[in-house]
Amino acid sequence: MVIGHNSILFSCFLFLIFKLFECLDAKSFETSLKSAVSPVNGSIFSQRTDASSAEQYFQFYGYMSQQQNMMQDYIRTSTYQRAMLDNTMDFKDKVVLDVGAGSGILSFFAIQAGAKKVYAIEASSMAKHCQTLVNNNRLSDEVIVIAGKIEEVSLPEEVDVIISEPMGYMLFNERMLETFLHAKKWLKPNGKMFPTQGDLHIAPFTDETLYMEQCSKANFWYQNSFHSVDLSSLREAAIQEYFKQPIVDTFDIRICLARSIKYSVNFETARESDLYNIEIPLNYVVLQSGTVHGLAFWFDVAFLGSQTAVWLSTAPTQPLTHWYQVRCLLQTPIFVKQSQTLSGKVVLKSNKRQSYDVEISLGVPGTTIKSTNSLDLKNPFFRYTGQPPQPPPGTNNASNDAYWSQQDVNS
Ligand code: SAH
Repeated sequence: MVIGHNSILFSCFLFLIFKLFECLDAKSFETSLKSAVSPVNGSIFSQRTDASSAEQYFQFYGYMSQQQNMMQDYIRTSTYQRAMLDNTMDFKDKVVLDVGAGSGILSFFAIQAGAKKVYAIEASSMAKHCQTLVNNNRLSDEVIVIAGKIEEVSLPEEVDVIISEPMGYMLFNERMLETFLHAKKWLKPNGKMFPTQGDLHIAPFTDETLYMEQCSKANFWYQNSFHSVDLSSLREAAIQEYFKQPIVDTFDIRICLARSIKYSVNFETARESDLYNIEIPLNYVVLQSGTVHGLAFWFDVAFLGSQTAVWLSTAPTQPLTHWYQVRCLLQTPIFVKQSQTLSGKVVLKSNKRQSYDVEISLGVPGTTIKSTNSLDLKNPFFRYTGQPPQPPPGTNNASNDAYWSQQDVNS
């Protein structure tokens, strides 16, 4: 899943219409669908989330178009299906919990893999549509849809497997991994988590074009006679704002100047609180001299089933998914030489807006060279154009004459 960018006004309008229908339909909905009971002094979810953030978040996932967007990420959806169908030993006659079921697509896959019962928990109004699909697929005895937050609902029994698709941009955005881990209170001892593990990859990259693009946008504020008004005192604030935004798009892996560093989370052993503050030390050996403009992030998740391991990768070398890749720029780039050490860290501090404040720092040990930046993962800049990413300049090792030779062969 990935939370995207909607017109707020349009969303409000649709939401009101939707609410109207919800009221008309409320009676039949209530009778067919079990509902959540919230603890009196607030759940872990409500304690760690601003009410306004949660409202907007679940409104977003209440749209069929957003569920469709995720379902139509063919790599994502097919990999989940394969992971379950190739590990029927983990599903046959098992009780499964689907955390954040959305349309219920993963619950249906669990049934296809032989599950005897699936509890499909969904906090947004999509729970209603999920119930409709369950009924229409004649699975209402097997798939029990519960409307509510996993932190607030009650299940009638413990489960053998927990399935979920809780990954956001840069793996951690949306803080739904915490919800996934929280759900383990319903897992039998030695029960399985699907996915089992998440790996965040971090690599230093060079991209002069991207860096210049952000500077140029801020330079609008550099002019001292815009309609005869001096804007230049706001240039610094504009720079701060643009560089605070993580960039969401894709790139050629050859822009990475060192091998990525991996930070793994084992979903079977990790606790929710492990994700409140994540500190990742970085120590790179530079593979290629160049200017480091920032850190690139992507992630993989693994389904470590009893029969086979299946990986879902959002690496730049793999087919593009709706997670793309994410890059965090440095305000001051760093020049590094091949075989030099580049070190620093990434600190991810969770916030009440279901996201993280990101601090990056990089430096060359033994020198005064050091650069840092703070970013707001909740407000990324979506830069993807649909164009294939360009290889970095300097990757041609032969003359372009080969092109004409090929034309000669064809003629
Ligand atoms: N499982 C579906 C949807 C994934 S998107 C699929 O793979 O297509 C994540 C879903 O989790 C959203 O529909 C969102 O509303 C739901 N969700 C997020 N946090 C939740 C929570 N705390 N409790 C219940 N549902 C949650």
